[in-house]
Amino acid sequence: MNNIEIIKTHKICSKCRSEKPIEEFRKCKSSKDNRINYCKICHSTNSKEKYFKNKEKRLAQIDMWQQENPHKTDKYSLKWRQKKCKEKRKLKRELKNRPELINAEVVEKIELGENPSF
Ligand SMILES: [Zn+2]
Repeated sequence: MNNIEIIKTHKICSKCRSEKPIEEFRKCKSSKDNRINYCKICHSTNSKEKYFKNKEKRLAQIDMWQQENPHKTDKYSLKWRQKKCKEKRKLKRELKNRPELINAEVVEKIELGENPSF
């Protein structure tokens, strides 16, 4: 068995097909020569393309889902509104029992649906 490791100094990018110094290829342990097959430039454009492709795909999927399940989104927003209303009521009740906490800032926060921290 030949244990002498051949250290490559150059590698051909499988995308742009140009020979580049090995430092131009990102390290990858699962690869035979510990480097990925694309040069850094191709790799970064590749992942950018992938990202934008996925982003569009994801947005399209969300759109489709919302179109297919209009009542579901309604239900969710309704639930959210109900939860917010409940919180508001609870706060108002709390404030009734502790009038010393009421001030303009707190009232404004409640009206905006925020949770005033005492
Ligand atoms: Zn390349």
